[in-house]
Amino acid sequence: MKIQDLTYVNAGYTDTPLEPMDRLAKALGRNGGLYIKRDDMTGLALGGNKARKLNYIVKYALDNGYTALMTFGGVQTNHGRLTVAAAVRYGLKPILVLKGARPDYMSGNLLLDRLMGADIYFVDTSAADSLPAEEQAAARQKFLDKVSAEIMEKYEAQGDKVLSIPVGGQTFIGSAGYVQAVPEIMRQMKEQNIKARHLVVGYGSTGTFAGLWAGARYYNAPFEVIGVPIEPDYRPVQETVDFINGLSAYFDMGFTCTAGDLHLEMGEGSHFYGGTGYNEPDSITRSYIGLLARTEGIFTDPCYTGKVFHGFVDMLDRGVISAEDGAIFMHTGGAPGLWSKEHLDDMQKTCWSGEEKGHVYRAP
Ligand SMILES: *Cc1c(COP(=O)(O)O)cnc(C)c1O
Repeated sequence: MKIQDLTYVNAGYTDTPLEPMDRLAKALGRNGGLYIKRDDMTGLALGGNKARKLNYIVKYALDNGYTALMTFGGVQTNHGRLTVAAAVRYGLKPILVLKGARPDYMSGNLLLDRLMGADIYFVDTSAADSLPAEEQAAARQKFLDKVSAEIMEKYEAQGDKVLSIPVGGQTFIGSAGYVQAVPEIMRQMKEQNIKARHLVVGYGSTGTFAGLWAGARYYNAPFEVIGVPIEPDYRPVQETVDFINGLSAYFDMGFTCTAGDLHLEMGEGSHFYGGTGYNEPDSITRSYIGLLARTEGIFTDPCYTGKVFHGFVDMLDRGVISAEDGAIFMHTGGAPGLWSKEHLDDMQKTCWSGEEKGHVYRAP
């Protein structure tokens, strides 16, 4: 089946704005040439990139008689929030299996998941910490698989048909949403007379990068897609190559790629874009979150987009991308993470320590 013929639901909006970031450009000593694609505005449950994937995944679920959507992620998963919202909107049961201990304090995405009535399970694998380092990942995965199978059986025994969606919605069907984002961006560029040689996007579970990369190839886009890994232990490039080639074969797109075709940028030293770890607060990422907020009034998040934006600005400095050639920052959402407890606590110390002199008036 051709990807253009694949049908989808409108769980979230597409046609998100493509806008100039002229204030940012000015702050960086450039004259225009920087753009943002606002996929934080896909609308579904406060928006984000997973909505485009879910448009296709939900359609598949409905067409195949599923009654529940189950998915996985960290405790603050944005993908989980959007999957719950999509399930709710289409009358499916939302089930979240979250990796980590159950926090005592509910915040960020977890609060939103709860408000939407998701069935939430926590899988605490911290016991694996005591194993030799090389055995830990496998032990964690084994336990997660076992628990997931048990949870699935529980629902199926009640008569549900459960669609299990991998972390990040990383499936061929889901990535179709990002292949199809490419003609949309190309049309917007044409309409607005925007030239851009690069598009910078986060590289997490990688379905967004892969879909955009495949779309750029398939539709012969004028821009190269650059991926920024959002953690130091990023997903191996070969897995992404295999995924893109699988995607191309699945939709008969007629190309193959190799590792040398993919462009990832990690940065180095204090400009290592992935920071210290997955969803760990760090002051450098936070300073870039502040930069975009102060110049454009747009919020990025500490887990994903703040890191990608750090990469975007540093790549401008390094000349990997340029305002003259034009560059698009793909905003993939995630702002609810700003209000997750770990990041709030951290920001109290760094952004809210002490009263500013002369800024507080007290009635006598
Ligand atoms: C999931 C996510 C990403 C990464 O997208 P992948 O398709 O998993 O690579 C980037 N930004 C935000 C806000 C996300 O939630």
